[in-house]
Order: sequence, then C-alpha cells, then structure tokens
Amino acid sequence: MNRENKKRKYEKGYYKNHPCTESFICKNCGRLVVSAGAGSNHRNHCPNCLCSMHVDHEPGDRESDCGSIMDPVAVWVRKNGEWAIIHRCRRCGALSSNRVAADDNPMKLMSIAMKPLCSPPFPLERIEEMTALMGGDGKLHG
Ligand SMILES: [Zn+2]
Ligand SMILES: [Zn+2]
Repeated sequence: MNRENKKRKYEKGYYKNHPCTESFICKNCGRLVVSAGAGSNHRNHCPNCLCSMHVDHEPGDRESDCGSIMDPVAVWVRKNGEWAIIHRCRRCGALSSNRVAADDNPMKLMSIAMKPLCSPPFPLERIEEMTALMGGDGKLHG
C-alpha cells in the first residue's frame, strides 16, 4: 500500500474541517442524496435506506480505498440520548458508527432497532425447556 503517492482530490483530513456538501447517488437504492436537510455538516449515509459507503477509516478522513457499500446493521443510543447507526462494510466487514441525520427514514431506523427483539438468538417456542435447564420451571401458571 503506497499511501504517500496516492492522488487525492482533497488534502488529508479535509472533511474533518469542512462540511461535505456534495450530492451523490446512493449505490444501494439509487436515490439522489443531497446534503441539505441532514441537520449536520456530514451526510455520510443515505437517508432512505441508511446505507453508507466505505470511504473513511476515521469519520471524514476519506482514507479508505475500499469504496464498497456499508449496510446499517444496528442502532444504539449515545450517552446524550442521540441515536447512532452501526454500519458494516459488505466487502471487508469493517464496522463504523455514525450519527443519525435529522431526515433519516424513521421506519428503517425502527426496523433495525427492533430486529434483535423480533428475532431473538434463541427459539421462543422452547422457552419452557430452556428455563427448566436454567433451574426454573418455566411453566405458565394459570
Ligand atoms: Zn439508499
Ligand atoms: Zn470496506
């Protein structure tokens, strides 16, 4: 990897200090994504399908050569109550956490948040058996 000779459109760290105001077409859903309406200076994912692109190592540094689509795989809540999205790269598996934007699709956010609750990592129909194994009787008493 020869990063020194890599031709760059902007200096290293450009986007850390400058807002990204470029529009782009989402590679996942094909929607035109404009920077207006995000409620922040950094629009790093599509507000419709919430997919991102693997272009950064650190947010805003544009240092990654990967360029693949990053799927939203989880949401979490920061200390200040703000929601953030965990993105995972389809090609290399890199994970990154990004703030949600003001106009992100709320239904899509909810469906990602609900996913583990609707598909728990254990079989619900065998809950009695499992609680029995854990020492309780697990039966529903009338
Ligand atoms: Zn999209
Ligand atoms: Zn990647």
